[in-house]
Amino acid sequence: MSFSADVVTLFPELFPGPLGASVIGRGLADGLWSLRTTQLRDFAADRHRTVDDTPAGGGPGMVLKPDILAAAIDAVSPPGDPRPRLLMSPRGTPLGQARVRELARGPGAVIVCGRFEGVDQRVIEARNLEEVSIGDYVLAGGEVAAMALLEAAVRLIPGVLGAAESHAEESFEGGLLEYPQYTRPQIFEGREIPAVLTSGDHGKIARWRREAAEALTRTRRPDLLKR
Ligand code: SAM
Repeated sequence: MSFSADVVTLFPELFPGPLGASVIGRGLADGLWSLRTTQLRDFAADRHRTVDDTPAGGGPGMVLKPDILAAAIDAVSPPGDPRPRLLMSPRGTPLGQARVRELARGPGAVIVCGRFEGVDQRVIEARNLEEVSIGDYVLAGGEVAAMALLEAAVRLIPGVLGAAESHAEESFEGGLLEYPQYTRPQIFEGREIPAVLTSGDHGKIARWRREAAEALTRTRRPDLLKR
């Protein structure tokens, strides 16, 4: 069974967007994963196709209505659907490579994209939505966040990356940032490729990369070393 993604959104026309390009798009065309978008507005009950209302207690903006969102979620993810239901949300658990790896190994995901001020709390609880954040900043909607999550997960699905584009030594695999990369020309604006990398000594190269990765992680992300 391949990875199946369902996205509930007010802007289905944004998809597949970047997910249709390069290796991720090729994986989609080849059936290594599937993507279905659902227009939330199709579940509105009135002739104005209303999906939002003013926040209880006052304040600016609008909130996505729980009944409409629940109907959309139930339509794409009936009881027994094994896929996790995610809500893209700046309040959510920060997305990390470990969760991305879990998702990629699983059956897929149902992803709800918020808009406006967000989503009525009761539907989050009633439909057991896992809130996921892609970083400590606020986007205008969940679509770009959903794309980031899907792109990160789909590239880990076996067969999506070619043999030449392995992810075994990437940043976060093994708890470190990746070592610096170089390619030809040998000298660029007076800067040379470190000699060890062109020495042909694989033991030395591995040691250099390991030390460079540790040094980079120590300076930029000491929190990763502590974990
Ligand atoms: N009022 C909300 C708050 O302060 O937490 C922000 C709502 S934001 C303008 C609208 C939608 O964008 C959110 O419901 C969510 O789906 C999405 N979004 C914004 N920032 C995000 C982030 N960092 N990670 C994931 N989703 C995000």
